[in-house]
Amino acid sequence: MSSTPPLNILIVGSGLAGLTAAAILRPHHLVTVFERGTDSIATGGQGIIIAPNGTKILDSINYNLSRAGAVPILGIRTYTKEGVVLEDVDMDMKERFGADCVAMKRSDFRAELLRLATEENGSGDPVKVVFGKNVVGVDAEEGVVEFGDGERVYGDVVIVADGIHSRLRNAIVNDPSNHYEAQKTGLTCYRIAVDTESAQISLGNLVLPHWWDPQTSSNRSSIIYAGDGTPRFITAYPIHGGSMYNLACILQTQDSPKEASESWYADGDKNKMLELFGDFSEEMRRILSAATEVKVWELQDLEPLPTWTRGRSILIGDAAHAMTPLQGQGANMSIEDAEALGLLAPGTRREDVPAILRVVEDVRRERVSKVLEETRKSHGNLKVADRVFANADFNYGYNGIKETLKARDETV
Ligand SMILES: Cc1cc2nc3c(=O)[nH]c(=O)nc-3n(C[C@H](O)[C@H](O)[C@H](O)COP(=O)(O)OP(=O)(O)OC[C@H]3O[C@@H](n4cnc5c(N)ncnc54)[C@H](O)[C@@H]3O)c2cc1C
Repeated sequence: MSSTPPLNILIVGSGLAGLTAAAILRPHHLVTVFERGTDSIATGGQGIIIAPNGTKILDSINYNLSRAGAVPILGIRTYTKEGVVLEDVDMDMKERFGADCVAMKRSDFRAELLRLATEENGSGDPVKVVFGKNVVGVDAEEGVVEFGDGERVYGDVVIVADGIHSRLRNAIVNDPSNHYEAQKTGLTCYRIAVDTESAQISLGNLVLPHWWDPQTSSNRSSIIYAGDGTPRFITAYPIHGGSMYNLACILQTQDSPKEASESWYADGDKNKMLELFGDFSEEMRRILSAATEVKVWELQDLEPLPTWTRGRSILIGDAAHAMTPLQGQGANMSIEDAEALGLLAPGTRREDVPAILRVVEDVRRERVSKVLEETRKSHGNLKVADRVFANADFNYGYNGIKETLKARDETV
């Protein structure tokens, strides 16, 4: 047994990145998460797809996919807006990459992470999650987080996972000649989730479309194209144990309300969404109209940062590398970041932290920059095989930081 005391780790943000890091670090360290929102911050019906590179890591921390209502996604299908199948591509993910691609409702995904991090009988001390705590500053070298009322909390490590509009990013990057913030990409996404019963009521005498009908849907993530030469399409996949569908309706930005680029939770105008996708099939229009909650989000990304670390602090998740969902890798990169922080092994001394964080950054920044570059290339590319599978080996074949470091050693 090491006589070195556990590290006191402070995490800013209880999103997917912060909570995954908390769950990974709790067995060996004392972890506190500060979240400015409430414990229901991530609720809302919308979904997320976790690819094999992320699922492998979740498996390694005993993440319970069935408790989170995860649905395996076994292929991708594309359709015309009239419902004609264009492509149907099998994804032999488990066989090829060792884990499935799974779709989850975001709130289910986060609830299971929160349980793993905070359950009493887990390994090590339960993570302390403090809600309603807005971090306003960080002393990155010393490892201190600061609150609006002047309170300062000291740690050995500060993990900044405060999302795409990170307040603390520039304090870590520390580049007086540049201010780093997310930029709009010209695409907007309306996000809804509809349960089967509501869809059927809304459909009335019409039947569930091919991509939803349990007889024909075959666990696909389906992309239904407008086919007018613009990037206007709807991605639909099952979530919540298959009892709901997530629909992400993407198109070129028409107008740009401030809240749609500043908040994950901005309400979208349902009538506007119906108008913008009004040329889709009658079935699709009725399904869209069954949504009880419409969220709208202008897709944004972040130029690669010159650094993610300063002293004993590190940026992870969207705070470090926001990207659009067009390769479905944003959250997966956050999960990979969290896994890399496992280099803060039991017995790590406070004085060793900055060097370890630099190794984490070195591995992660190189990989994430490549994923961002490929994601950007896919913004105008509508062919699924090109968009998703061109980078499959690179995206899904990742097996964690230790394997990457070992491979680097072998090539020196
Ligand atoms: C439409 C859409 C669909 C997507 N689909 C996918 C997908 O299918 N697969 C995929 O891999 N990725 C997807 N992504 C990307 C993915 O959602 C993000 O990469 C991921 O949510 C980032 O997690 P995070 O923890 O870094 O940030 P967030 O989830 O934004 O969490 C940040 C947290 O920090 C808190 N916070 C912020 N500031 C402070 C502060 N000052 N003090 C305390 N707390 C603070 C916030 O309240 C929040 O809880 C999608 C993105 C979009 C926009």
